[in-house]
Amino acid sequence: MAEAIEIYDDRLLAIVRPGASLQELANGVVHSEGPVYFHEDDCLVWSDAHGNRLLRWSPTDNVSVLRDPSDYQSGNYRDLEGRLVACSSGLRAIIRREDDDEWKILVDRYQGKRLNSPNDLVVKSDNTIWFTDPPYGITEPNQGYGGEQEQPGSYVYRFDPATGEIYPVVTDMVRPNGLAFSPDESLLYVSDTAGFNIPGGPHHIRVYEIVGDRHVKNGRVFCVIDPGQPDGFRVDEHGNIFTSSQDSVQVYAPDGTQLGKILIPQTSTNLTFGGKEGDRLFITAGHSLYAIDLNTRGVQL
Ligand code: MG
Repeated sequence: MAEAIEIYDDRLLAIVRPGASLQELANGVVHSEGPVYFHEDDCLVWSDAHGNRLLRWSPTDNVSVLRDPSDYQSGNYRDLEGRLVACSSGLRAIIRREDDDEWKILVDRYQGKRLNSPNDLVVKSDNTIWFTDPPYGITEPNQGYGGEQEQPGSYVYRFDPATGEIYPVVTDMVRPNGLAFSPDESLLYVSDTAGFNIPGGPHHIRVYEIVGDRHVKNGRVFCVIDPGQPDGFRVDEHGNIFTSSQDSVQVYAPDGTQLGKILIPQTSTNLTFGGKEGDRLFITAGHSLYAIDLNTRGVQL
C-alpha cells in the first residue's frame, strides 16, 4: 500500500520498505492506546483505554484480554527486567505487573498529594520511570474515576522505583502526554495535547536537554502537529520521531524536518516498535491495532 505513505523528504526513502502495507491486526476496541512489545513472547500488549481493558495480540494467538477491568490503564512500557510497567489513569498511579501476575502500585503521590492521572511513561537505561501526569482521568468520564485534582499543575515526573524518590522534571507544559528519549538519552521529547479540549491550546512536541540524568533544561518546541494532537510517539535508532496525529503517523528527523506521513484510516493515539527484528511499527488508532514493516528499529528494545 505505497499510497499510504506521503514522502516530503528523501530521507524517508531509507525508512519505508517498498511494497510494505499497513495491516489491521485487531479491531472492536473502544479506544486503542499504549502499545508495548514483548520479544520474549512475540506479543504486543496494549490498552483499550476507554473500554477499561488490557489486551494482548500475538501472531499465533490473535487477541486476548489480559485485564478486565484494567482501572483505565493507559500507557504501557517494560522495565529493564522485562516487567510490564504502566500508567493507571483510574488509580492515578504507576503500576507494575509482578512475577506472580499481581499488579503493584509503585507510586501514586507526590509530596503527600495524589497524582492527577498518569498517562504515558518511558523507562530510562538507569531503570528510572519518567511519566506524564495530565488530568484526563479526573476530567474525562471515560478515562478514570473522577475526583479532585490535588497537584497544582500537569507535570512530567522522574520516579526511581529502587528508592521511591519522585520529583517533577518538566513543569512548563499544559497537558503533557507522550514522551520519549533520544537514542543517547541526551534529550527528552514530550508532547502536549492541550489543543484537544482547550481552545488555542498547544498541539506540539517539545524537546529538553537532559542534565546529569536527573533534570532537564532549555525546553523548546520541536514540532507542531496538524491535524490533531501528538499523543504517544516513539524514537527510532537514528533519532527519528514517529508520532501519532489525527490522520497519520508523522515522521520527523532529529533536526525537526518533517520527512513524511504514514496514513492511518483512524486517528492514531500511540505506537511502538516490535516484531522479531524490532523493525515492525505497531500503531494503536481508534478502534484498531495496525502494523507496518519498516527499515528501522526502535530504541526501546
Ligand atoms: Mg497518551
